[in-house]
Parts: sequence; C-alpha cells; structure tokens
Amino acid sequence: MARTLKLRAYAKVNLGLEVLGLRDDGYHELRTLFQTIDLHDDVVLRLQPRGVSVRCDHPLVPQDATNLAARAAEALRAYGRVPTGVAIEIRKRIPVGGGLGGGSSNAAAVLMGLDRLWRLGLGPDGLSRLARRLGADVPYFLLGGTALGLARGDEVYPLRRQLRAHVVLVDPGIHVSTARVFARLDTRLTPREKSNSIYYFVSRELEGSGAYRFLQNDLEEAALEEAPALREHAGRIRAVLLREGACLAALSGSGSNYFGLFENARPAQRACAALAAEGRTALVGRTLTLEQYRDAWGRARNR
Ligand code: ATP
Repeated sequence: MARTLKLRAYAKVNLGLEVLGLRDDGYHELRTLFQTIDLHDDVVLRLQPRGVSVRCDHPLVPQDATNLAARAAEALRAYGRVPTGVAIEIRKRIPVGGGLGGGSSNAAAVLMGLDRLWRLGLGPDGLSRLARRLGADVPYFLLGGTALGLARGDEVYPLRRQLRAHVVLVDPGIHVSTARVFARLDTRLTPREKSNSIYYFVSRELEGSGAYRFLQNDLEEAALEEAPALREHAGRIRAVLLREGACLAALSGSGSNYFGLFENARPAQRACAALAAEGRTALVGRTLTLEQYRDAWGRARNR
C-alpha cells in the first residue's frame, strides 16, 4: 500500500467577484468566476502511525493544528475513522494572503490525496461537504478550471467553455486579510441582488475579449482601504498590464495580487518584463482548464 504522495496545489484567480449582500447566516452572498492558474505549492503527504503534523517553509503559515491543510487531514481522519496519521509538508510558492487561495488549495489537495492514500473512495463529490466546512473556496479546488461560484462561493459549477489564456501575476508583497476586507465592506454594503455582470460574461461564453468588460471585483475598493499601501501600486500595475494588451487587469479576490489575462504569450512576457523592470515581483503563467487540472491530479506521484 502506498505511503507517500506528492501533489501540486494550484492557485486561483477570481476573474470577477460580485458581493450581492449579507446572508442570514452572517456570510456574504457571492457570485464569482474562479480560474485555476499553473502557479502551485508542492504538498507531500507521508503516512505515519499516529497524529497529523504539518511543516511549511513560509514564515506566515502556521505549523500547527490551525494550518488549513492540517485541519483538512484531521477532518477527513475523523470522518473516515482512519486509525493512521499523516505528516504534511508544504513548499510554498503561492503568495500568502494574496487572494490566490493558497490555504484553500492546500486543504483540497490534502483531502484528495488522503482520500487516495487512505483508500476511502469518496472522490470530489464525497469530499465536498467536508471541504465546505473548511472554507468557502475549498470546494472549488476539488474541481478546478473555469467555474462559477455561487452562494458563499462554495456552490461551484464548471463552465462548458474553459478559458485558455496567459496570465501575468503581480505580487505587491502585501498581506491582506480576507476577513478584514469583508468587514470593511459591510460598513457600506448596499444589496445588489440585481447585479448581473458575471452572468452577462458567462452568457457570452468567454467569446472574444470584449466580454471581459462586464467583469468587476466588488472587494477591490475595500481592499485598497484596508491596505492603503496597495493603492499606490494598483493604478500603475493595471496601467502597465492594459498598455501591453491585457484583456482583463484585476485584483484577485481580496488581494493583494493583481493579474492580467492575455490571449497571446508575447504581450504577456512583455508586460511581465516591464513590471519586473520597475522592481516588481511578476511572473508569467497559464490558465488551467478543468481537464488539465484533472490530468495534473492524475499525475500526482506515489512514492
Ligand atoms: P483567502 O482564502 O482568505 O482568500 P488568501 O489566498 O488571501 O486567502 P492564504 O494564502 O490562503 O491567503 O492565507 C490566508 C491565511 O491563512 C494566512 O494568514 C495564513 O496564516 C493562514 N493559513 C493557514 N493554513 C495555511 C496554508 N496551508 N497555506 C497558507 N496559509 C495558511
């Protein structure tokens, strides 16, 4: 029986994010478009006789039971009544507090990996309830690709047309707390049930870059208030991305990372070089479709 599994936990960006209002349960009613990108953390799972332990090479990531990956393992162990434990090792590449869903992705990778190592046979459907309890973005990472997120963002529907594009990711190096951004937003939230920008976009089936003008991120203003240093970077980053031909330049989730989407590789590389020349941390990557995400999962290696 396999005892070790090495997997990739990919990052996401939110192509658009609408906050429709506050729900009775205290969470926000969202409508968002998730997109996986090929930036990833490496996660290694090693079965051990007892207990869940976690190690991570990033100073801002907890190495105790509060780590979302450890919580995922503990939740699955209890649910499956598994007698053995697991040692989790995370090599971070996804910026922490960057709005790229790193913690949620780690948690989903652990659920999927342990489902396999522990031979529980739950699959993404069987894991989705546990995923939901761990965090609103975790269910999305059981699926990947281009997907619509409704309710708290945890009701996820894959889109028929999957996006294929080049991505430039810009990390201003500022940690933004998602909870604080939402709290700030609450002080001036006006319910917008009739907002339809994401539906307009989806109904255009990702055809032509013109559809991107329908997308918006309702968290951006609150994120810029929460992290005033980010405002200085925001205008310039967006301007460079658009100048080089991005069809969309936006903040991901609650920030702090901005991204640009490009149909072709050359302009993406030019934008990345221009941002790097200004001393910014920028990288070029690709989007991953649902199918590519599944394939990557299939290639996860037992050792
Ligand atoms: P969010 O999902 O809140 O939008 P984010 O993408 O902005 O998150 P994450 O990188 O997921 O940011 O980290 C958010 C916080 O979660 C960090 O402050 C970190 O201390 C904590 N955390 C717990 N477990 C992890 C993990 N495995 N990886 C990254 N952060 C984690």
